[in-house]
Amino acid sequence: MPEEKFRKYREKRKFEETPEPKGGKKKKSDKPIFVIQKHDASNLHYDFRIEIEGVLASWAIPKGPSLDPAKKRLAVPTEDHPLEYADFEGVIPEGHYGAGIVMVWDIGHYKNLKSDKSMTEAWQAGRIEIELFGKKMQGKYALIRTKESQKAEDQPWLLIKMKDEYANTKSDITKDKPKSVLTGRTLKQIKNEAK
Ligand code: MN
Repeated sequence: MPEEKFRKYREKRKFEETPEPKGGKKKKSDKPIFVIQKHDASNLHYDFRIEIEGVLASWAIPKGPSLDPAKKRLAVPTEDHPLEYADFEGVIPEGHYGAGIVMVWDIGHYKNLKSDKSMTEAWQAGRIEIELFGKKMQGKYALIRTKESQKAEDQPWLLIKMKDEYANTKSDITKDKPKSVLTGRTLKQIKNEAK
């Protein structure tokens, strides 16, 4: 049930006071989507979200994504978000969960590269391989859970660029392309334009 799916997400938020969507209405996409949100909260990080079974499975990546296969990026799992969150850009007020500025840094769709596993099975196994078709991020990426544990949901993962023609050891994509892919705004502009 969708209501149950977003219980953790909703428990953390007061929808009369945050501009974030309550969600739960949007149906799953024809092509599953991914979104990366740059989030200037107590620490700047990037939230990586991929659509699995009608929710956005989510990870917080402190350093952001890298195009360099040698740079494994820590990805801490966070609560599933509703699909409506994918184009949320704005300011979460002080004193609220995730207070700070949210930017849609990249968005697009993805393909599951594991032909023998559904995305849910790949998530459960702790080994996801996907191809991204974003505006900034393209090519193959792996998300790997670091170790087995009874509470799999708390284990950190790693986001790793797989070797392909989009791999790049020289550029730093978060520095090279800092603005919103939806509105072209900087974090500062998003902040200033929020009422
Ligand atoms: Mn976040």
